[in-house]
Amino acid sequence: MTTENDSLADRDFLLSLVVPVYFEQECIEQFIAESTSELEKHGLNYEIVFVDDGSRDRTVELIKQAIQTNDRIRLVEFSYNHGKESAVTAGFTYAKGDYLLYMDPDLQDPPDEIMNFVNKIQEGDGYDLVFGVRKEKRDSFLNVLFSKIFWFILEKFTGLDLPRPLAVMRICSRRFADEFLRYGETNRFIEGLFMRVGMKRTQILVSQRERFAGVSKFNFRRKMQLAFKAIFDFSDLPLRMATRFGIVLLAVGVFLACLLVFLRLFVMEFELGWPSLVVIMITGFGIQIFFFGIIGIYVGNIYRESKRRPLFSVRELTNFGETTDA
Ligand code: UDP
Ligand code: MG
Repeated sequence: MTTENDSLADRDFLLSLVVPVYFEQECIEQFIAESTSELEKHGLNYEIVFVDDGSRDRTVELIKQAIQTNDRIRLVEFSYNHGKESAVTAGFTYAKGDYLLYMDPDLQDPPDEIMNFVNKIQEGDGYDLVFGVRKEKRDSFLNVLFSKIFWFILEKFTGLDLPRPLAVMRICSRRFADEFLRYGETNRFIEGLFMRVGMKRTQILVSQRERFAGVSKFNFRRKMQLAFKAIFDFSDLPLRMATRFGIVLLAVGVFLACLLVFLRLFVMEFELGWPSLVVIMITGFGIQIFFFGIIGIYVGNIYRESKRRPLFSVRELTNFGETTDA
């Protein structure tokens, strides 16, 4: 059903919703109901590409059920949990739309915002990327605090000028998606990659709701993991910091040694006992271990990249026709 004055000529494009799901059985039906009704209300030509990131609840079953009655829903199933970054990348790989809209199924970013994204990306001579920025943040105090710290550190380290507070929902053009998919790194911080791909981008405000049901999969530990991933994926500042630190310490050491010799020779007599030795040893070991740690992290990254592992392994594809053999 088409409403208002939405001329169908303007709707002559395919919109792909890319939705990673992981243990989302409580949300999935509501999400499908709300998003399809929104898309159909505006007469959009759409597909919904779900990527199941190895859930072991009823998520997959419920999506397959929905596919029975809605031919526009598709499902990519991972054989095990690969993480959200890989799920989104898989979604981008299999989605065929002229525009790709990435959102979560927990309804925190509500489907009634979809049209705003579609309109925005087509505005003027068109954008390649529209980020969603949260109007208000519906989250616990601690979560808000953690994400404030997270983004602050991230910005300082990476120099990425990400719009904040970033919502999950964002839309991009086919051109952007193709470019994004050329980034082969395994250690991937999606938000950073989105910025790095560049092209013409803008942002809009989106309203927020509470998570419809279920719990967030990103506890404090996973958030911190993400922060480190981002820093070591997008910044060589730790490496440079270590070098600077080393130079400063070396200079201080040389200066103190000279001072000691000078004092002994020209100023006064004093015992150079074991305490100073122990201090020197401890400091020396500390510095060495610190540097080894930093180098280790980067070597680890090189190791992971050099394996050139595929980013995901797909167990099963549902409703993609015979044309998808990506
Ligand atoms: N997710 C995923 N793989 C994971 C963890 C999460 O695909 O290993 C998906 C999850 O289903 C959801 C999205 O990533 O669609 C964001 O997760 P969540 O809503 O739990 O995080 P939050 O919104 O609290 O940051
Ligand atoms: Mg969420």
